[in-house]
Amino acid sequence: MSSLTELYKEIALCQQCEIAKFRNNVVPGEGAEDAEILFIGEAPGWHEDQQGRPFVGPAGKFLDELLTSIDLKREQVYIANVIKCRPTGNRDPLPVEIRNCRGWLDRQLELISPRMIVTLGRFSMSMYFPGKSISKIHGTAIKQDNVIYFAMYHPAAALHQQSLRDVIKADMLKIPLLLAQEKEITEKKPEPKQMNMFDA
Ligand code: URA
Repeated sequence: MSSLTELYKEIALCQQCEIAKFRNNVVPGEGAEDAEILFIGEAPGWHEDQQGRPFVGPAGKFLDELLTSIDLKREQVYIANVIKCRPTGNRDPLPVEIRNCRGWLDRQLELISPRMIVTLGRFSMSMYFPGKSISKIHGTAIKQDNVIYFAMYHPAAALHQQSLRDVIKADMLKIPLLLAQEKEITEKKPEPKQMNMFDA
């Protein structure tokens, strides 16, 4: 059994928060164990709670569309959330819930070890870009300990505010270039030594 599957079993037993009592399913996350890109949303909604899978409702449909725009399928990336249980009535996650769930997310990151972490919305953004405002830093990246952190609006934002749709699409299109640049830096092989006729 894979280490992620083992971790999912542990997450499924978690009862640290009150909302665990009301969930139909825990939503740990899903995707490739060796994903280069890991997306972090906010929290499961109604659809996700029903199915135990992240981003399967209307916001997920838009996320799938965004992935297709950069030639990626869900199975090639990893999709997680800041918290793994649906907050009652789809309210915002509470600070205590984010703290309680942080260990699970950190273990996912440790196992997957992605090159790039894409934060979707302000809750995951504030974990890696503390004190920043999403309207200012969306579409920008920072690099820390060899990981690129890239901030995006949450796909659901486009469902409430149509004008954000194109902004989110444009930000998504920056991902392949950032990743390619990162690979060029980290995988750059030393230039082959010039053969000198006197070396032989
Ligand atoms: N919104 C999220 O942040 N995560 C999901 O899984 C679904 C909707």
